[in-house]
Amino acid sequence: MKIAQPDSAVEQLSPAVVDFLKAPAMVIGAGSVPALSGRTYPVHNPATGEVLAQVPAGGAEDVDAAVKAAQAAFEGPWSRLPPTQRQAAMLRLADLIEANGEELAQLETLNNGKSIMMSRLLEVQGTAEYFRYMAGWATKIEGSTLDVSIPIPPGMRYQAFTRKEPVGVVAAITPWNFPLTMAAWKVAPALAAGCTVVLKPAEETPLTSIRLAQLCLEAGIPEGVVNVVTGMGEEAGAPLVAHPGIAKISFTGSTETGKLIGVQAVRDMKRVTLELGGKAPMIMFDDMDLDLLGVAAGVGSFFNTGQTCCAGVRIYAQKGVYDRVLDTISAVTRSLSIGSGLDPRHQINPLVSARHKAHVQACIARGVEQGAKPVIRGSAPADGFYVAPELFVDVRQDMALMQEEVFGPVVTVTPFDDADEAIRLANDTRFGLGASIWTTDLNKMMRYVPRIQAGTVWVNSHNLPDQNMPFGGFKQSGIGREHGRGALDNYLETKSVCVAFR
Ligand code: NAD
Repeated sequence: MKIAQPDSAVEQLSPAVVDFLKAPAMVIGAGSVPALSGRTYPVHNPATGEVLAQVPAGGAEDVDAAVKAAQAAFEGPWSRLPPTQRQAAMLRLADLIEANGEELAQLETLNNGKSIMMSRLLEVQGTAEYFRYMAGWATKIEGSTLDVSIPIPPGMRYQAFTRKEPVGVVAAITPWNFPLTMAAWKVAPALAAGCTVVLKPAEETPLTSIRLAQLCLEAGIPEGVVNVVTGMGEEAGAPLVAHPGIAKISFTGSTETGKLIGVQAVRDMKRVTLELGGKAPMIMFDDMDLDLLGVAAGVGSFFNTGQTCCAGVRIYAQKGVYDRVLDTISAVTRSLSIGSGLDPRHQINPLVSARHKAHVQACIARGVEQGAKPVIRGSAPADGFYVAPELFVDVRQDMALMQEEVFGPVVTVTPFDDADEAIRLANDTRFGLGASIWTTDLNKMMRYVPRIQAGTVWVNSHNLPDQNMPFGGFKQSGIGREHGRGALDNYLETKSVCVAFR
């Protein structure tokens, strides 16, 4: 079923969704399979807390089968297909994602809790566009010709060139906050480069990844090119990372898990990119356009109910505008409507799981205990995994609320005197994923952007990535960049070829 109008409510679930939920299975090779152990685990609807489906609890033996299927597909057709054929297959997949868009969007909202509008526009439409964008790069992989100066033996001459070759089987491990999008950010460049993939989605939100792998088969992408193993991090993710058949690991998730994976990857000399946590600052100068404060709060801070790695959760406002900033952000926060993601009028939706709700509530309680002052205490529906948005002032820089990821609708507002102070405070965490500067002064913007330690700095905007704009972290927010031409290099090896002639 094609994607519905983004802002229309879901009155009735699509019959395809109801059918899919009866028995979602892993995708290994050409088959939809249960875990070899026969074990399953429940995934929940965050809006109600009810069990949504039983999903295979994959383990090391399932990972092994999936890696073998991916190796066979790599050595078989996929890495040797002419680039135009890989491109065509990816474009067919993009069309199928759109054709099945409403089903995918409903699955995403049911499983993750997010607004159906966001599922339709970003998760589904964005994923289709992402595959189209990356499909274009499949036909533009290129090396260089190199003049070399090798002096021996006398009389021999040389010409060198580089070849870009797909790295092999990729382990793609994704988090729960943007399930389909995160899968696309990894699977699309891997396929464009000629790699095959074993995708391990977050245990909370595996449903759209399973459906994506099914659509890959329907699009004529050969069996084994995209496999999905569902299950827990320690039981399915860890054996995938350790599997000797894996050449490259592409991980998005928490900094803590990323460190474990990074150590393992280096031990085995596997290629690795890590997209990790964040604690993004938004620096608001006295000369900012105050009309943008609604965007700052709605898009920058509370987008996806704050479950965004680069959410602007630390607002620093210069003293001349501090009161206006606090008043306006408070008013916007109070106005946010809380409810099920199936109704697009709600901007604050349930958090992904009971465990994550408990984590966010504990962060709020700790903040209060450490002396942070709540400006707003909202109430949230009792059923489901809801937490009302919170705004704090009087938060010291050394408090957990300033330093640790909450990953929910919790924002701090802090005054500053001058740019030096603001930049020092903004840089004062272990993270460096995103940041923003709000000013109408071009000179200020150009002076301060280079001093911010973050992989992306938005100006008069926040939280909006693009497929053509490199995305990744400074410091403990990660290693490597996704998106753009550079993303393809994550999945390619460079081979120098040196040709002797007389
Ligand atoms: P997480 O680290 O708990 O889990 C991420 C994935 O890793 C899941 O699939 C999980 O099953 C798997 N995993 C867990 N332990 C593992 C292990 N030992 N070996 C292999 N795999 C393992 O993260 P999460 O809670 O799912 O996601 C939220 C985090 O993701 C936040 O920290 C957020 O900032 C981050 N994130 C970062 C970006 C980015 O682009 N930088 C984007 C989205 C989310």
